[in-house]
Amino acid sequence: MKAAVLNGPNSDVCFEKRDRPAPGRGEVLLRVHACGVCHGDLMLQLGQFPFARYPIVPGHEIAGVIEEVGEDVTGLEPGARVGLSALFSSCGFCNQCCNDDEFLCSQMQFTGITKDGGYQEFMVASAEYVAPLPDKLDFADAAPLMCAGLTVFSGLRHAGFAPGFRVAVIGLGGLGHLAVLLARAMNGRVAVLSTSADKRDQALALGAERFINLKTESPSEALRGWEGGADIILATSPVADSMVAAFPALALNGTMVVLGAPAENIAVSPFDLIMGRRRLMGSPAGSRKDLRDVLEFAATHNLRPTVTRMPLEDAGKALREMHESKIRGRAVLIMQ
Ligand SMILES: [Zn+2]
Ligand SMILES: [Zn+2]
Repeated sequence: MKAAVLNGPNSDVCFEKRDRPAPGRGEVLLRVHACGVCHGDLMLQLGQFPFARYPIVPGHEIAGVIEEVGEDVTGLEPGARVGLSALFSSCGFCNQCCNDDEFLCSQMQFTGITKDGGYQEFMVASAEYVAPLPDKLDFADAAPLMCAGLTVFSGLRHAGFAPGFRVAVIGLGGLGHLAVLLARAMNGRVAVLSTSADKRDQALALGAERFINLKTESPSEALRGWEGGADIILATSPVADSMVAAFPALALNGTMVVLGAPAENIAVSPFDLIMGRRRLMGSPAGSRKDLRDVLEFAATHNLRPTVTRMPLEDAGKALREMHESKIRGRAVLIMQ
């Protein structure tokens, strides 16, 4: 089978012919049909994860079919359609694991960062960590939900989203465009904040009611007329300056959720924090429960992510074009 491999930090993607892996006890062999290309894969290529294990097959937005089950696997049969997120496995016993917070487990293994991921034709996964794919979702549409959709969904959930909330989304890439789709489908109202003026049409077409160009407008002034500002700001693009500029655009009791990690610290005014009882929080991808919930939600509401399909052989090109912000929505590698 064919696998795309990163041999170390700052290396190009190279392709290897490998033997199909065999599933061990408690594992399944997946035939990968689609794998999203996430900003995290680019961080891996740039050597920004100190805990990464090279050589590594990247990819943690996986949609495929079970080809084979290992010993002691119950409830999963060959032919089942499943998805896998960045949560490859966790200890299963700590407080976080027992409270739907496996992503905060200190023993967590990351798909495509510490364990070989989805940029290949077959991969092994831990049977307890794959989620069933609803029939209504095809593989390419399901893949971006495994990290981008999951991260946004879990972030909204932990920020206390309720129908009618005004949600401002910074950035309109993989996470950002799914944030607009999900928040709208949950009966939220949406504004998009972006540094590229050419995203306006796409933002409005996805269901945003306002578009703010961060290069020419002050978000706090632009959103002051939006009934006092945003209840939640989802900061999806990893740019500290945009987050700092947007923070005062929060309504009283509002929450900014940091989803994309900038290289710099995020310095907000303590007066903006205190005199509005505002919150600045972060949120990682999400739990197994969040994953099943976002897949069900997307299927029920017929959500269709914006997907740029590419063959596995174009993995290097997909990473490069994402780096240059040339991808519309999410790039998804299609294996067959
Ligand atoms: Zn990701
Ligand atoms: Zn644990």
